[in-house]
Amino acid sequence: MVNMSQTRNPMPTQQPQVRAKNFDEVALGYTEEMALDEAARCLNCKNMPCVSACPVNIHIPEFIERVKAGDFEAAYQIISKSSSLPAVCGRVCPQETQCESRCVRGIKGESVGIGRLERFVADWHSANCTEAPKLPKQNNHKVAIIGSGPSGLACAGDLAKLGYKVTIFEALHLAGGVLVYGIPEFRLPKKIVQREIDALKALGVDIRTNVVVGKTITIDEIFEMGYEAVFVGSGAGLPRFMGIPGESLKGVYSANEFLTRSNLMKAYREASSTPIMKAKRVAVVGGGNVAMDAARTALRLGAEKVYIVYRRSLEELPARREEVEHAMEEGVEFKLLNNPVKIIGYNNPDNKRDPMNGFVTGLECIRMELGEPDASGRRKPVEIEGSEFVLDVDCVIVAIGTSPNPLIKSATKGLEVNKRGGIIVEEETGLTSRDMVYAGGDAVTGAATVILAMGAGKTAARAIDEALSK
Ligand code: FAD
Ligand code: SF4
Ligand code: SF4
Repeated sequence: MVNMSQTRNPMPTQQPQVRAKNFDEVALGYTEEMALDEAARCLNCKNMPCVSACPVNIHIPEFIERVKAGDFEAAYQIISKSSSLPAVCGRVCPQETQCESRCVRGIKGESVGIGRLERFVADWHSANCTEAPKLPKQNNHKVAIIGSGPSGLACAGDLAKLGYKVTIFEALHLAGGVLVYGIPEFRLPKKIVQREIDALKALGVDIRTNVVVGKTITIDEIFEMGYEAVFVGSGAGLPRFMGIPGESLKGVYSANEFLTRSNLMKAYREASSTPIMKAKRVAVVGGGNVAMDAARTALRLGAEKVYIVYRRSLEELPARREEVEHAMEEGVEFKLLNNPVKIIGYNNPDNKRDPMNGFVTGLECIRMELGEPDASGRRKPVEIEGSEFVLDVDCVIVAIGTSPNPLIKSATKGLEVNKRGGIIVEEETGLTSRDMVYAGGDAVTGAATVILAMGAGKTAARAIDEALSK
């Protein structure tokens, strides 16, 4: 029987005061009872609007039907036909703007909790099914993947299942890309990412870490090693800065560096070999998911006061609503319609407020108001003259976006990029301007989402298979 409740089953979470002091996962996941109740809200619509709003077209009504029947393993098998990272996407996909945005139950109430059900099914599978995957029959073709983020993992997984011998070359010492170095443990536990990586290894994928393509080896040398195709999934890890005075002071981080030190190198532990500043008062500049992650991480590292400084209003804030709400509940203060103009500290020639050392002592901001819409359609923030003020902080984290790293392009002849540094590819195949070199994910689009990167990896895997099986 259909559950006609207008509201979805809430996600159980850790209490805000408790979770703001630990790195454990905030959202605890549905119980079996909640999953059955939520699945009963799905109308199994014949025209399936939710499916076309999922970038990898998961057969949503079909998997939810299996959840309703209590056959969770069958539900998992349906999801895994389209997605190789369901436990990840069920947690971090911006579902509210994708699959759930088109759910008919959302017209007169809340949409079905599709992402929450996907997470439940993926977690149920990993807790209950230990059967090793069947090794595919090898086809003797070798493919190299550069980067082990979601695009590289998805491409590797699909090719390995088709019998290709796949090697991933990863610059860092751990595989997973942003899933391990960017998104914090309290949103995406690293054991879940490791589970996905172990599943790939079980399919025969060879992961070689500490290999920086463009420095350690080049794409030409990869071809000389006998690989017949290369997929570039190197992401967009190059941070942008604001270009304001004071950005070289101690206590100014790019969000990428701050999160990497905390997530990947566990700098918060006493025994960690990499330092991180345990700041007392932190300003995070930016309004995306990365800014929310940095702010919430700063709180967990012991900051007494954390601000989000964003130049537009709450309505334009690009981060997921759920992450914004979580940050607010945990005590992050939002300084909206404010723009930084100067970071203050001893080394800043304009200001010697703190003559003791070269650390940040404040962030000067100017208040903004919204003017006419700009090219993006959003109302343009305009400075209010004479409204400058100083936020008393000892750390500034810049989270205003990233670009693709130019290293691979500079070390690879004939690889064309656009003016933002994104590798130019054919949309249907991911083929670049170099023969048998494919690319996808953030390296092509600039900073985007896990599911889009995964979709690009899958598209390239299909195209590589077509090209090599001719
Ligand atoms: P990445 O995940 O960046 O992986 C690229 C990999 O390539 C890295 O491991 C890198 O070390 C490696 N690499 C780079 N250069 C080389 C080289 N020369 N040689 C070898 N290896 C190399 N998306 C969401 O959908 N939901 C979210 O909630 C969300 N939150 C985010 C929070 C943060 C803090 C960040 C930074 C991003 C977030 N994103 C989120 C975006 C999402 O994580 C990315 O869009 C996605 O990871 C891109 O995948 P990718 O495979 O293209 O690249
Ligand atoms: Fe929705 Fe993302 Fe799952 Fe697709 S992968 S069904 S968009 S949560
Ligand atoms: Fe179910 Fe909503 Fe999809 Fe309809 S649109 S099939 S109710 S999830």
